[in-house]
Amino acid sequence: MPGSATSGLSFQTPLIFEQGSPGRDGASLGDDDLPNVDPERAFGKMARQSPPLLPEVSEPEVVRHYVRLSQQNFAIDIGMYPLGSCTMKYNPKVNEWAARLPGFANLHPYMPDELAQGALELMWRLEQGLAEVCGMDRVSLHPAAGAQGELTGLMMIRAYHRAQGRDPKKVLIPDTAHGTNPASCALNGLKAVPFPVGEQGIVTTEALAPFVDDDVAAVMATNPNTVGLFESEMAAISELVHSKGGLVYGDGANLNALMGRARPGDLGIDVMQFNLHKTFTTPHGGGGPGCGPVGYKALLDPFAPVPVVEHRDDRFVLDYDKRPASVGRLRSFQGNFGMMVRAYAYLREMGAEGLKQATDLAVLNANYLRVRLGEVWHVPYERICMHEVVISDRHLKDSHVTTMDVAKRLMDYGFHPPTVYFPLVVKGAMLIEPTETESLQTLDEFVEVMKTISDEAAAEPERAKGAPQLTRLRRLDETQAARKPVLRWTAPGSQSEP
Ligand SMILES: *Cc1c(COP(=O)(O)O)cnc(C)c1O
Repeated sequence: MPGSATSGLSFQTPLIFEQGSPGRDGASLGDDDLPNVDPERAFGKMARQSPPLLPEVSEPEVVRHYVRLSQQNFAIDIGMYPLGSCTMKYNPKVNEWAARLPGFANLHPYMPDELAQGALELMWRLEQGLAEVCGMDRVSLHPAAGAQGELTGLMMIRAYHRAQGRDPKKVLIPDTAHGTNPASCALNGLKAVPFPVGEQGIVTTEALAPFVDDDVAAVMATNPNTVGLFESEMAAISELVHSKGGLVYGDGANLNALMGRARPGDLGIDVMQFNLHKTFTTPHGGGGPGCGPVGYKALLDPFAPVPVVEHRDDRFVLDYDKRPASVGRLRSFQGNFGMMVRAYAYLREMGAEGLKQATDLAVLNANYLRVRLGEVWHVPYERICMHEVVISDRHLKDSHVTTMDVAKRLMDYGFHPPTVYFPLVVKGAMLIEPTETESLQTLDEFVEVMKTISDEAAAEPERAKGAPQLTRLRRLDETQAARKPVLRWTAPGSQSEP
């Protein structure tokens, strides 16, 4: 059988965290090492009346507990993570080192500018680099996620129209768009108006034209779009929208298919967000920190979030004053600074040639999968794709094995599932993004496993239907698991947290 189940995922865990034994501990401090503090005097009413209900365990037990927990989950450090549109790629460990340098990591956000010159310079240089990559005049590093970047960009668009005495309300969004696009409109008091993309999977000026009128604040386009295709009519679309006074928002979450090859700014896009946690190497997932910088053309500069890092007289300063029409602050302090350090380190490591190569490899890998998977699986858009490819479960119809079953079965073979049932325009979609970092061997292994799963579905569908077999937990209630995750250990018998 090709592939192998990840061994670490298969065993059942004893609840060792709840075992322990009274008096057992993992540290040996002499009495002399402990300050002689009277808790009542030190903490007053806040002093504990009884010891906390914590497990009493030895150091090896604690270490084993956490290592075991880490093995019960999937991670990019274990295997391929082809989560389409979310770019789960290998992130150079050296960037983690950079982000942890004490001068960056311990910098207090209230530090005066003159004592934070290194950090401000890094932000300024990162801004320059990102602006160059996307062909924009400036970039705001504030937003803490791709979705917040969308919100920011739309706020700036709205402020721009209002400054001209207009207040158009509609934002045109193709039906392939990421769900955050209409949500960002709604949060902004704008009306998301969906329009269909054609058979070809891309936006055409013909399909768009009937929707463009004076009440259009903007078109929101994702390029490459969420079916993994390049929006080849983007420049003409921008021209059409501009001719009616509207602006063009670009969802740049997946810039790893364009970097070094095409620049959204050159295609007429006025404002866009980056997802540094997708393309520029901060690991993400599990709701971890995000950074969604917004690149914009000069016409939107008066409305940019403040403060803006400016370079004046050889010094770097946080400027709060120059933009009275600013949309304001988007979050506390300067955004997720550690991510900026990682992104900057990545830009410098890669250089212009490196970024181009990453793009080329991401696109090559996705097209390799498109052709190889296409030998067995249904590929709805049979044309050159960008960084990701969409396939569907159509050929499994008679077996009643579905995309969800395939996703679960992949876990038994040591692969993270792709994005499933998205984009919505393809029934039973699997959106597969190999990224630039997977080798030919890994891609071949993935293809073999996908073929095995397809054969199994025909011969013994119960295998996929009963998957995953080898993970610690089987099929979870995914909604509850996401909405009400149980993240804390609670002492047996206690109602509250320890
Ligand atoms: C991930 C993604 C977003 C949202 O980014 P978050 O950082 O998760 O808020 C928006 N659009 C596209 C196309 C994406 O892939």
